[in-house]
Parts: sequence; structure tokens; C-alpha cells
Amino acid sequence: MPAMTPDSLEPSSERLRELVSKALDRLLPFLESLPEQRAGDFESGAELARSLAEPAPESGMDYDELLDHLFERALPQAYNTASPGYMAFIPGGGILHSAVADLIADAVNRYVTVFVAAPGMVQLEVNVVRWFCEQIGMPQGSGGLLTTGGSMANFIGVVTARREKLPENFLGGTIYVSDQVHHCVTKAAVLAGFPPARVRRVPSDDRFRMRVEPLKEMISADRSAGLTPFLLVASSGTTNTGAIDPLMELADLAQRENLWYHVDAAYGGFFRLTERCRPKLEGIERADSVVLDPHKALFLPYGMGSLLVRDPGALGRAHSVTSDYMPPYQEDPDLVDFCAISPELSRGNRGLRAWLPLKLLGFETFRAALDEKLDLTAFALAAVRAMEHVRIVAEPELSLFAFRMEPPGVTDEDLDDLNQAWMDATNRPGRVMLTGTSLEGRFALRICILSFRTHLDRIEMAIEDLRSAAAEVLV
Ligand SMILES: *Cc1c(COP(=O)(O)O)cnc(C)c1O
Repeated sequence: MPAMTPDSLEPSSERLRELVSKALDRLLPFLESLPEQRAGDFESGAELARSLAEPAPESGMDYDELLDHLFERALPQAYNTASPGYMAFIPGGGILHSAVADLIADAVNRYVTVFVAAPGMVQLEVNVVRWFCEQIGMPQGSGGLLTTGGSMANFIGVVTARREKLPENFLGGTIYVSDQVHHCVTKAAVLAGFPPARVRRVPSDDRFRMRVEPLKEMISADRSAGLTPFLLVASSGTTNTGAIDPLMELADLAQRENLWYHVDAAYGGFFRLTERCRPKLEGIERADSVVLDPHKALFLPYGMGSLLVRDPGALGRAHSVTSDYMPPYQEDPDLVDFCAISPELSRGNRGLRAWLPLKLLGFETFRAALDEKLDLTAFALAAVRAMEHVRIVAEPELSLFAFRMEPPGVTDEDLDDLNQAWMDATNRPGRVMLTGTSLEGRFALRICILSFRTHLDRIEMAIEDLRSAAAEVLV
């Protein structure tokens, strides 16, 4: 007897309505209870994962039971990235308008990788990319694409730079990054075919920004050794501390040295929307390529990065390979075939999840939200600075800072343990989740305020919990 489920590959309109409405019935209580949920669950998930391993289902199952399984078993134990108390790593977004856009995009399932297959939907995505270029001040004629995230965008950037600047035998090429660069840039270089040693790590200064003098020396030493410096990667908002490399100076140097100038602004780039951060990010508009992560400072759900390029022709030259069964690509530079400028052929309709919220809310809404994050960061900074024995290790450039406790009479090694204990005790009540990092060889706590759900009340809780945790570990 086949299982008596009402489902088939083509659900009726009534059934579809029921599927969506029951999913919403689970989502709403989840979302409404976010402020009371723990900001992070730190137990090892191994036991949970093993208990969820399951055989391939040969026949269908009851939808309500599956929703129970999802919402009660699979979902809860996790870093609660949707929580207003999540201030770990670089928080992601998850605005719900994008979830609705994804539902529409998946339901109509247009083939957006080839212009002729879905010219309207493609144009909406092209619009989004142009808006991003405008917002960070790149010149008219710039373009690019949306990717799954910052890592993929950095990878495409490195490959494009390699194809533009180096001969086919490219192994003599050298890449310059700061010692604070995101590891995905090194990974991108390795995936692009370079031995890791071709990535030169330039030391950073006391504010964790790339130092220009040692960079110049490295470039000149590499040229003397017969190598070919071709790519300079600046970070605009590092993941560790939010540091911004000297973008103007590096732009000048890249120009003089004929290097491709790539700015990894995955975290920091969208802060250019705010008046306050615009001057700090000056120089980003001079890049040959820029990475922005809309799933960070544009509050979109995970799965959304972007690469913006001054000369979109470079993307085409790096990626355009086709074959007889493909429809012809567009000649007019205004009309984009995403498959001709990226490694992907078939892909989801990524544009809509940015287009719908941006059109519905306007950039002003996002600007105001980023301004709020900057205010909250200033508030948190003042409160943390006022705590006894606390040193700010990295002042905020954007919405992130690092700090540690250094009471007198504690040895250096014990200080690391003490700070780790302080962080663990702060996280224990579950109202916030902070993570740490290593700076100057020492453990430091970080607060990164980037969730669209984080407001003043939650920052006050973070301060309270840091204070009581400090009292607890200092006895
Ligand atoms: C997050 C981040 C990345 C990586 O982006 P993903 O979207 O996680 O792949 C790269 N660079 C910086 C500066 C980042 O903050």
C-alpha cells in the first residue's frame, strides 16, 4: 500500500497554500520568541547530528511531523544567528522580505543566468549590482555580479586579476595582503593556482592596518627576484577588529606599480551608506574590484555576496567560455549574461532577495539601521572602557571592537585564561553571544554589532552580563 500522503510533485493550489501557511505557523512563534531564546548554544552538536542521521525516505511522510522534526529537533541547538544577542564573529542578517522574495523566485524558477532566458529578472539583478556600485562610489560603467558569499566573490576577483595581469604561465605572480586579511583571500589564491608562499603577508600597524613601507619593500624585493607583483588586496573592515587599510595610499601605490587593486569590503563596505563612515572608506571607489557581503551589513540572509568591478569587461575576458548548445550571449554591454562573467552556469535567482527589500524599504532604511549600529557601538565602547582594568585593544572603526581585562598582579599566561573565562561567563546566561580572537598574540574579546534585531536594550544586557561576569571571574 502506498503511503496515504496528499503530496505529489504538483501540489494543488489548496495544498500549496496549506504548505506555506503551516510553515508560517511554525515560523511566527520562532520569530516572536527570538528575544527570549538563547543567543547561542555551545554544547557539542555531535550527539544531535548523529541522532539525526537517517536513511533515504522511499515514501513520503506527514508534513506536520516533518515540521515538528525541523523546528523541535534540528533547529534549536545552534549559534542563534537570528537572535538580537548574537554579536559573535561578523553577524549575518536574515531580513524576512528576502525570504518572501526567495519563495517567489523559487516558485517561478526563471533561468536567470542567460539574458535571453529571463531578460526582466536579469535586469532586476543588474539593477541591484549597479546600485551597489553607485553606493560605494564606483564610476559609471562599473558592474559585477552577486555571488553566494564573500569567499566566492574574492575567488572570482583573484582569478580575474590573474587573467588580466599575468601571462598563461602565471606562477611568478605575487599577491600582497595584510597579516589581518580574511583567510578566504589566501584560499582564493590557492584555488586560483598559486602556491601559498606567493601570498605576501604585509605586517599591520598598531591599529591593525596594512603598513605601506614594508609593502613597498616587498614589492621591490620581489621584482628584483624576477617575480611579477600583480595583485594588491586591501581590507576595508577586517574580520578581527574592523580595521580599514589606508585605501587611498594603497590605491596610489597600486596605480604606480601597475597592480590590480582589490578591496575586500565584505564586512565594511556598506557602511559607506552612512555619513559618518564615508570619509573612512574613501579610496574604495578607486579599486579595480570590490567585495561586499549583503548578507552582513545589508542584513540579507546568508547566501549573498557580491563582486563589483570597475571594468566589467575583465570579468567577461576571464570567464567567457561557451559552446554550440548555448544561446548567443549579448553584445550590448548593458545587457548581462551572468554565466559569461562568472564560474556558474545554472544558479538561483539571487537578485530578487536583494531587489525586493531594497525597493520596498529604500536605501534610507538600511542607512538608518547602520547608523543605529554605529550609535550602539559607541555606547557599548564607552561602557566597556569604563569597566575596571579593561583595555580596548582595537578601537572601533565601524561596528566592532576588541578588548581585554588586565588586572594588576596577573601573569601574562593567566591573563589569557582569565579573559577566556570572562567571555564564557558572559555568554553563559545566553542573553548575548560574544566570540574572541588573538591580537598581538593575546586573547581578546570582541563585540560586533551588526544584527538588524540588536537594539539598545540588548546592548544594555550585554554590558550587565559583562559586568557581572567580570565580578564572578575576579573573585
Ligand atoms: C565574512 C568575510 C569574508 C568571507 O565572506 P563569506 O561571505 O563568509 O564567504 C571575507 N572577508 C571579510 C572581511 C569578511 O568579513
